[in-house]
Amino acid sequence: MGKIIILEETTKHPLTLMGQRAGVCWGGNIQDKDKNYKRGLDCLESGHGRVLEYVNVEMVMEGYSARVIREWYTHIGGAPTRLQASTRYINYSDFDYIVPQSVKNHKEAEMRYEKCISEIKDCTRYLLEECQIPREDIAMLLPLGMQTKIVDKRNLRNILDMCQQRLCNRANWEYRSMMHDILAELGRLSDEWAYIVEHYCEPKCKKLGYCPEKNSCGLMKKRDGK
Ligand SMILES: Cc1cc2nc3c(=O)[nH]c(=O)nc-3n(C[C@H](O)[C@H](O)[C@H](O)COP(=O)(O)OP(=O)(O)OC[C@H]3O[C@@H](n4cnc5c(N)ncnc54)[C@H](O)[C@@H]3O)c2cc1C
Repeated sequence: MGKIIILEETTKHPLTLMGQRAGVCWGGNIQDKDKNYKRGLDCLESGHGRVLEYVNVEMVMEGYSARVIREWYTHIGGAPTRLQASTRYINYSDFDYIVPQSVKNHKEAEMRYEKCISEIKDCTRYLLEECQIPREDIAMLLPLGMQTKIVDKRNLRNILDMCQQRLCNRANWEYRSMMHDILAELGRLSDEWAYIVEHYCEPKCKKLGYCPEKNSCGLMKKRDGK
C-alpha cells in the first residue's frame, strides 16, 4: 500500500506551539513550556480553531492512486498546497497501480483488470517508442488507479476537518485507509501529536453526536434518533 513520510518542517509540538501563539495575545508567559502546552490544550478543548492554523503538516505521500489524490485535492480550506509527480517528465510505460480488494476477490474480474492495465502499458510504450508521441499527450491514457506521489503542505485545522469527512465509514476505502496511514505517522511524531490523533481525529458523527449522512452506516444514530 501507500507510504507517508512526514517532513521535518512539520510542527513537532503542536499543542505547545498553539499555546505559545495564543499566549502572545493573552499577555501570558510564553517562555514557560508547560504553560504553553496547557494553554494550547485549552484552545483545542474550547474550539478556538484559529490557533490550529499555526500547526504545519508537510509530508510526502506516495503509492496511493491518482484517483484518491484527486479527492484529496478537494480539501481547500486553509489554502493548502502541493506538488504532484509530473506526467510530462516521468516515463509511465511501466506504472504501479492499485487493485481494489473487490477485484482481487473475483478471479475473472482480476484477470480482466490486469489485462486492461497491461493493454494501457503496451499502448503507452508503443506511442512513446514507435510513434515518438510526447509523454504529456500519452499521459491522457493513464488510469486513475495508477499510483502517484505528492508533496503536501497544510495545517492542523484542515487535517481535523478532513478527518470528519474522510474517517466516515461512507468515505472511499482508499481515502479512509490513507487517513489512517497519515494519522499513524503523525501520532508517532510526539506525545502531543499522539494525544491529538487519539482524541480529536474522528469522523463527523462522533463530533456531532449523531450521523448527518443521508445513508448512515449505523455507527451513530441519526439526528431524529433513528
Ligand atoms: C460519503 C462521502 C461522499 C462524497 N462524495 C463526493 C463526490 O461525489 N464528489 C466530490 O467532489 N466530493 C465528494 N465528497 C467530498 C466532500 O463532499 C468535500 O468535497 C470534501 O470533503 C472537501 O470539502 P470540505 O468542505 O469538507 O473541506 P475543505 O474544502 O477543506 O473546507 C473545510 C471548511 O473550510 C471552509 N471553507 C473552505 N473553502 C471555503 C470557501 N471557499 N469559502 C468559505 N469557507 C470555506 C468551510 O467552513 C469548510 O467547511 C464526499 C465525501 C464523503 C464523506
